[in-house]
Amino acid sequence: MNPVGLYIHFPFCVSKCPYCDFYSQTAGDGVKAAYAEAVVNTLRGIRKERGVSFDTVYFGGGTPSVAGAENIRKIAECVTSENGGQTISEFTVECNPSFIEDGFFRVLYDCGVNRISMGLQSAVDSERAALGRRGTVADVSKAVFAAKTAGITNISLDLMLGIPGQTLKSLEKSVAFCLDSGASHVSAYLLKIEEGTPFYERREKLRLPDEEECSELYLRACELLSGCGFSQYEISNFAKPGFESRHNLKYWKCQEYAGIGPSAHSFLSGKRFYYRRDLNAFLNGDLPKPDGNGGDFEEYAMLRLRLSDGLVEKEVIKRFGFPIPEKMKEAAKRLCGMGVVIYDLKGIRITRKGFLLSNSVISELLMNL
Ligand code: SF4
Repeated sequence: MNPVGLYIHFPFCVSKCPYCDFYSQTAGDGVKAAYAEAVVNTLRGIRKERGVSFDTVYFGGGTPSVAGAENIRKIAECVTSENGGQTISEFTVECNPSFIEDGFFRVLYDCGVNRISMGLQSAVDSERAALGRRGTVADVSKAVFAAKTAGITNISLDLMLGIPGQTLKSLEKSVAFCLDSGASHVSAYLLKIEEGTPFYERREKLRLPDEEECSELYLRACELLSGCGFSQYEISNFAKPGFESRHNLKYWKCQEYAGIGPSAHSFLSGKRFYYRRDLNAFLNGDLPKPDGNGGDFEEYAMLRLRLSDGLVEKEVIKRFGFPIPEKMKEAAKRLCGMGVVIYDLKGIRITRKGFLLSNSVISELLMNL
């Protein structure tokens, strides 16, 4: 079996940000230690049952760093030590820059972690505060420095677009921070007001940038990052050459991965599975629920069109044995005239302008397949 990606969800955070709907909560040391043990046991079970090995690993959440260096070390050692001789080319851990234990990054480095992802969101403290983020921009600088000093130089920073009070000028400051800090990768996501979050409850009072302002922020972020050597390889992701996230590319290329932990999803042997959003259930041995078959052409196309490379004819033929369907090509030709899609001999890809309307452009392309 080919190596697959491994995602481990850490359902812990220091506090809950009011816009976030990821599955996470505060927890004591005992729960975190029990969680590490449950993850290690689950991981051993998956390997035994399926005989998989991993070539990319991503510890996300929640906030993995909140689980503490010792728990991360236990899990990371299990990941790397029983991997059937397979090298892990990319091992990412998401960290909260405001709560880093002394020596934390050194422990990660010694476990084989070679990439850190941190939530900057904004380099303007008042914007971070508007998002309910704890800590300051100075904490992010310190954490980046500490990670690099420990030997982990591949750093990804998250930016948020559409923050209450954000302007083009303040965005420029945030992008400049990413450049100055030597980040090799930047993710820039538009703030989405998710139902069930405190932001959703008070959405009328938030003074959010309107749709037009958000479009301007997005296009400006793309322009600034592209102008500084970051190529946009996905709707919201930018990387210096060779620093695209190998793990996340597996999702967008519809390749297989195993996910462990409450709310984590898997795609293995053509089937999709997910764990319920329930930490106690996971600690008590909850098994992943089946979620149907994965990887058909429609799903593949939907994911691939998020990438700047788009849907590549040659790769479609290789994977499915047939070319991009004619109806889709007809739709692409119509959309070319609106400047949201490029259709040529290579295949179909969405332009930056089209990325702003990605949901409707992708639906239009997939309609009547
Ligand atoms: S730190 Fe991240 S995962 Fe945790 S609540 Fe905030 S946004 Fe959500």
